[in-house]
Amino acid sequence: MITKCDHPGCTKAGTCRAPKTRDLKEYWWFCKEHAAEYNKNWNYYANMTPDEIDAEWERETFGIADKDKDQANKNEDDYVNFLNDFLSGRNTFDKMPVKKSVPSTIVSALQTLDLPITATWREIGSKYRSLAKKYHPDTAKDKSSAKEFMRITTAYETLKKHFKK
Ligand SMILES: [Zn+2]
Repeated sequence: MITKCDHPGCTKAGTCRAPKTRDLKEYWWFCKEHAAEYNKNWNYYANMTPDEIDAEWERETFGIADKDKDQANKNEDDYVNFLNDFLSGRNTFDKMPVKKSVPSTIVSALQTLDLPITATWREIGSKYRSLAKKYHPDTAKDKSSAKEFMRITTAYETLKKHFKK
């Protein structure tokens, strides 16, 4: 089962597992980039609870450090609005149906076309057309292009079936 990256707002596939706590009972799923970022901070996060990590990420993601929070509190309304936006954004993100319904073959096909997991059929079509133009055996010069052309075409066919086109 492929889920989306657990980093708030990230739309990439969460293919890398990272422990939430030292007892390794719970895991985050991140894209490569956020997994690398997380691992870099592992020692720092390891002694925190998931809630504390969440709070820390809020600060990192939105640039609210403790000293800035004091400033933000001075303008209470803005701060409350900011938190509400963050929470509802996170909520929507967590409830996205793609989280559980996208088969791994589709995810890898999308990755082949360098598209996010949320790509629409329209986006897939136009991305495929531009890649196909680039790698088409009639216009491309080397053998690796022909191979690449096959690869993107296979991915496209897979997605075509998935989207029932
Ligand atoms: Zn990510």
